[in-house]
Amino acid sequence: MRITAAVVPARGQPFEIQELDLAGPAADEVLLRVVASGMCHTDLHARDGYFPNLPYPVVCGHEGAGIVEAAGSAVTGLAPGDHVVVSFPWCGECGPCRSDHPAYCVNARAMKSGGRRVDGSTPLSRGGAPVYSCFFQQSSFSTFAVAPAKDVVKVRADAPIELLGPLGCGLQTGAGAVLNVMAPRAGQSFAVFGVGGVGLSGLMAARIAGCDPIVAVDVHPHRLALARELGATHALESKGAETLAEIRKITGGGVEFALETSAVPAVFRLAVDALRGLGTCVLVGSARAGTEVGFEMPWLQGGRVVRGVIQGDSRPREFIPRLVDLFMEGRFPLDRLVTRYEFADINRAAADAVRGATIKPVLRLPA
Ligand SMILES: [Zn+2]
Ligand SMILES: [Zn+2]
Repeated sequence: MRITAAVVPARGQPFEIQELDLAGPAADEVLLRVVASGMCHTDLHARDGYFPNLPYPVVCGHEGAGIVEAAGSAVTGLAPGDHVVVSFPWCGECGPCRSDHPAYCVNARAMKSGGRRVDGSTPLSRGGAPVYSCFFQQSSFSTFAVAPAKDVVKVRADAPIELLGPLGCGLQTGAGAVLNVMAPRAGQSFAVFGVGGVGLSGLMAARIAGCDPIVAVDVHPHRLALARELGATHALESKGAETLAEIRKITGGGVEFALETSAVPAVFRLAVDALRGLGTCVLVGSARAGTEVGFEMPWLQGGRVVRGVIQGDSRPREFIPRLVDLFMEGRFPLDRLVTRYEFADINRAAADAVRGATIKPVLRLPA
């Protein structure tokens, strides 16, 4: 079928809207009409060539939300008309997948940024020549997309589907790091470093858990203002040692849970230094390969835990519907993070995201 997609023609080039041909879904896939797609920094990293194995031209996008148009012959549990969010790919067979931690799938890298299906085929083409896609096995910057059914999460139909795409990646990353991994008790202290989409979703989750105080640290005053509105009890402009002293004062000696989303080594160090004894720092910010950071060894020996988390360690079919329910109850107001763009304005959305003017761009696909 004929579809319209945003193509990155070559490494580092801007997105170009093109008409392409999309093959029908494989037996284990669904075809969905993409209503809207979130944009994540990972899409821009793909555009800019951070993924060494990603071929071009390629269609990115990995926070797709839409409506099932058709299901492959082997698909059960999903039917045309279902409202769905597409989450991250996982193989289902490796150790982490079998132990219920699909976010750590050992085969994830190829499935996210190999540009092809697992069997090597490419569903998109232009004039008979392949256009690479299958970015996170979805490539949602497109009016229609195919995705493995097991990565597709059915959501309640009374929720505004055009807002839900970011739950598939960025928002479940922040919320899951808090609710699934930290699992704080009410009254425990929490600090988040970097209040973009991931950080603010972590902050909203900390509020749901009843954390107090909730400290937000960032360099953008407008983001700190939003953090306050969403539940931060303290909002601090990041100023190194001064910020550390302030956090220690607010928390009576250090914070119990720190969420690092910035991927800046000095900020990660600050998050770890802000921990009290037995505190936990969770790293979700993704830095480029080769990025290193140093900590004082005696400091970590004080019972402090530093761990990395991918995708909030979520099982999307359980976690995303739970977040949708919390949103519908007004407790996880993800709409406050979203700036909507028409699909044709994708390059403006990307530029706004890079300079920090938007928290979470969401592109509305033409019907
Ligand atoms: Zn796996
Ligand atoms: Zn993402």
